[in-house]
Order: sequence, then structure tokens, then C-alpha cells
Amino acid sequence: MPSYYVDFHTHLHSYPDHSQAGKEIREHKIISVAASMDIASYLATKEMAKDNPWIIPTFGIHPKYSGSVVSLSDLDIYLNDSPIIGEIGLDECWHADVPQSVQEKVFEYILDHCHRKRKYCVIHTKDAEARVLEMLKNFPDAKPIIHWYDGPADIFRKMLDRGYYTTFGCQVKYSDHIRELLKMTPKEQILSETDNPDSEKWLGGTDDSPSLIHRVVRDIAEVKGISESVCRKIIYGNSREILVNLPINPPKYTYQCFCFFLSHQQHCQGLPYQARHSQALKDRPLPLPW
Ligand SMILES: [Zn+2]
Repeated sequence: MPSYYVDFHTHLHSYPDHSQAGKEIREHKIISVAASMDIASYLATKEMAKDNPWIIPTFGIHPKYSGSVVSLSDLDIYLNDSPIIGEIGLDECWHADVPQSVQEKVFEYILDHCHRKRKYCVIHTKDAEARVLEMLKNFPDAKPIIHWYDGPADIFRKMLDRGYYTTFGCQVKYSDHIRELLKMTPKEQILSETDNPDSEKWLGGTDDSPSLIHRVVRDIAEVKGISESVCRKIIYGNSREILVNLPINPPKYTYQCFCFFLSHQQHCQGLPYQARHSQALKDRPLPLPW
């Protein structure tokens, strides 16, 4: 089975040149789980995914924008549309100006959706780690993916013990604390991310391209004491486990991605793009839950 790089948390809508970012993702064959921050960024990300099977757009309200939600039920149409939810969560550091009660109201509403639909959700926890852990207890069927955790190790241990996946990204290169957290994370719970395009630059680096994921996987491999190719395979395997077990019928653009995950591309080589996918469906039904 081929194994691809997987960027499980990137903000493609934030790239100034969407077509250039999309082109690079295609060229490097990076499966990109593209987080949004609000409704407008979700729609922009969906637009990017229309003709790019490597991009999986996901809907979420970032804690920074939780104050912009007028009515919680306005979110339903987008929540129902999105096969994975993200980015959501709490932030008592960078976005402490948004009242905690407002952040929690939105986070709780979306977690309830994830619990009822048994969805994966990519969660931001900055300086609110204990509260996130506590709130997640009330939604046991939601499937958290903890993104860029850098809080206390004892709370992280509890998250790992509950079986949550966690993403590690460009910060592995810069932070001893995060390398310690990575050391304690079982390999089967590790995912990779870039949090592009802003994070690497914010940390003092220069590379904000999608292919930054290559270095991230190298950094993770080094900390775990394994080769880069083994590390990529492990992370791809973990990601694939999530992506082929999504609980809802993904929209058409997402469905196209699954042909890649399921190795149909070998089977369909030589056919034009559309035919490749319909041929794959006809000959071998996808082992997906719908
Ligand atoms: Zn993010």
C-alpha cells in the first residue's frame, strides 16, 4: 500500500494564493485535512477542494471567533456537511478577550454534535487544558484529536489514556517540552500537522509551504528514534484509520479523496480522472460505512 504525507491540521484558506498552495499539495501528494475558523473560511476551503482530491475541508468555529456566532442552530447546516469537525476548542491565552462563557457555549454545542454523530473533532486547548478535559467527559462518543498540545504533562497523560489522537507539528523542532510530550505518546496516537501558513513563521522559521510537512515528519521520527519512512507509514496508517471510518456520507469532493486512501489509483490507472473514480466504484465497492 502506498503511504502519503498527511497534514492533519492546516489552514489552507489563509494562503494568499490558493491555487499555488493547491498545486503544491497535489505535486507533493499531501493529504490535507483543512481546518476552518468560521463559516466564511469553511466555504473558501470547500472551494479549494472542489477540484483537488487531496484536500478535505472541515468545519469548525475557532474559539477566537466564538463571539461571532449569532444563533447556534445557524451552524447545523455546516456541521452536518462536514465529515470531521475542526478547529474548535477553548483558549485562555491568546484569545482570553473572548469571554470564557461564550467560548464554552459554542464549544459545547459543537461537541454535542460530534457526540451524537460520533465524529472526530480537532481541538485547540491553549491554557484551558483542564477545562477541555473536563468538558470532553460529557461527550464520550465525540472523537477528539488534540492539536498542538503544549500544556501540563499530567493532563496530556489523561488524554492519551482516554485514547485521543494528538497532532505534532512544526513546534517539535523548537520546544523541549513538546518533544517530551511526543516521547510519552504511543506511536498509534500520533498524527502530523503544519498549522500552516502562519505557525512556522511565528516560531521564527521561514518555510510556510505545504511541504513543510516533510520536515515535521522527520522531526517526529528523530524524537521517536525511528526512520523517516517508518514514521510516515505509521502516521499515514493512523490517519487512514480515521479517514476510512468517518460516520457520515462525505460530500462528493471528499469522496474523491477516498479513492486515494483505498489504493484505487493503481487499479484505475490509464483512465481519465472522472472515469477512474466511477470505474473504481463499479468494480470494487468502497469498504466505507455508508
Ligand atoms: Zn490551527
